[in-house]
Amino acid sequence: MASDDSDKSKTGRLVAVTLDEASIGRTSRDVEHERAVAIYDLIEENSFRPGGHDAGPYALNPRIDGNRLVFDIRLADGAPVIAQIVALRENPEVIDVPLPAADTIRARLGALSEQLAVARRDHTYPRKPPNAAACHALGCGYVARCWGH
Ligand code: SF4
Repeated sequence: MASDDSDKSKTGRLVAVTLDEASIGRTSRDVEHERAVAIYDLIEENSFRPGGHDAGPYALNPRIDGNRLVFDIRLADGAPVIAQIVALRENPEVIDVPLPAADTIRARLGALSEQLAVARRDHTYPRKPPNAAACHALGCGYVARCWGH
């Protein structure tokens, strides 16, 4: 007999993601490949209980409907469970972000790498902040990993 944990992993899982080609469309081979890999990874390991429902496994069928992104969630056999709808922003704003010229970027990176090399050689550049409190003050999210607390 299966344990409670394995029962939960069977019922609280997503086992299929099928993008609606008619509304989401297809794109370049590279992007299609990336999508397939992302879906594969998602299906391999997930925990999924839509709206507290716990009688899966589930199949997710995303589609675009007008200006809404619809997550049509069904049981693996196709029986409908719930649809979650995200209103996509109307009149999306496109902002051009000016970048420096390539030569300027190259020059800055070159100067930075020289500074780093000199600082490393002279031991004047600390490889990491002196303690966890300093890392907290920087707002870094890796404090537990680096300092163990
Ligand atoms: S916690 Fe962040 S800032 Fe501090 S040493 Fe680790 S990576 Fe660097």
